[in-house]
Amino acid sequence: MNAPAPSRPVGLLAELTHRCPLGCPYCSNPLDLDARETELPTATWQRVFSEAAGIGILQLHLSGGEPASRRDLAELVAHAAKLGLYTNLITSGVGLNRAAVTKLAEAGLDHVQLSIQDSQPQSADHIAGYKGAFARKVEVASLVTETGLPLTVNAVIHRANVRRAGAMVELAVRLGARRVEIAHTQYYGWGARNRGLLMPSREEAEAAIEEVERLKTTLAGTIVIDHVAPDYHARYPKPCMSGWARRTLNVTPAGKVLPCHAAELIPGLEFWNVTQHSLEEIWNNSPAFNAFRGDEWMREPCRSCARKSVDFGGCRCQAFMLTGEAREADPVCHLSPHHRIVEEILAEARGEAAEPGAYAYRRMRPLPRSRGERLQGEDLDISAE
Ligand code: SF4
Ligand code: SF4
Repeated sequence: MNAPAPSRPVGLLAELTHRCPLGCPYCSNPLDLDARETELPTATWQRVFSEAAGIGILQLHLSGGEPASRRDLAELVAHAAKLGLYTNLITSGVGLNRAAVTKLAEAGLDHVQLSIQDSQPQSADHIAGYKGAFARKVEVASLVTETGLPLTVNAVIHRANVRRAGAMVELAVRLGARRVEIAHTQYYGWGARNRGLLMPSREEAEAAIEEVERLKTTLAGTIVIDHVAPDYHARYPKPCMSGWARRTLNVTPAGKVLPCHAAELIPGLEFWNVTQHSLEEIWNNSPAFNAFRGDEWMREPCRSCARKSVDFGGCRCQAFMLTGEAREADPVCHLSPHHRIVEEILAEARGEAAEPGAYAYRRMRPLPRSRGERLQGEDLDISAE
């Protein structure tokens, strides 16, 4: 099968590190996190950013883990800014202080996306698995806006906070954000591991969708609301990544290049590494990138479906996770022969709050069960520097 000629990429997500002081149970990072010793050095990241600019990439998203865990973050931002890349820092806020925010702004950072876990401090700290995280984020939001950097607040919705989706939008307004992204949990990585505790009931999800859509009207002109609705409750799947290997690349802390952040869970894909290939070679020729380009790989019902150029058959990773075969239609689609799997999962969603300590918090290495079960901000071995 010949893959079609690749389009031009527009965005690069650089996962600078998997270290993160928080332990969000919905984190989409893989269960097997890259250790600090395997992280790419400064010079390699800078070379990757130069290659990205060379192939026409415009937007650089600096992510993790917590990107502020890297001491060279401002140096990396400065290099990207010099190349003319639009730099967006995706951060938990924990690990940033006034000096760090000022240094990043001076280095040429264009935008900050700050995550919040809930509008209620106690619940937010419980979800993050880190005492004091909420207060820290409020402080960082004000540092960011004082510095004059545009702020977006990101909130991931799940069972523990689904009733406060609207309150989180209102919190974003109070924090001075110009934009808020309300995204229902995607069940990859740690999110998949905790799915039973995170999935809201259909009624809860629908009420949250309604509330956020209403706020889009009432807060028009005050804040831009980007709303990523829960795909498990939709009729059709999301156009995952705007199509496999069509617009963006992800580089992991150790330099592996992925068409999407969850792609490693699909067995048999061959990923190339920036330490061995240029970004251009990877974009054009990496077997993993070419595996699901175009529509030759599709099975029915996608192959003959009119929507295949709209949603690209949905998410390959979700198709694999739920059916065991990545070429199947995303089972979220009501036309998929496997759609009943999603219906069964939804039927099991109890809509009750998770008991404190019940989450499998994201962490670098397994902790003994008795420690891993409690609120564990201080237990995490990945503190921001
Ligand atoms: S643990 Fe939370 S803050 Fe850290 S990378 Fe994952 S989602 Fe982001
Ligand atoms: S059958 Fe495939 S292409 Fe058609 S709507 Fe469903 S997932 Fe999309």
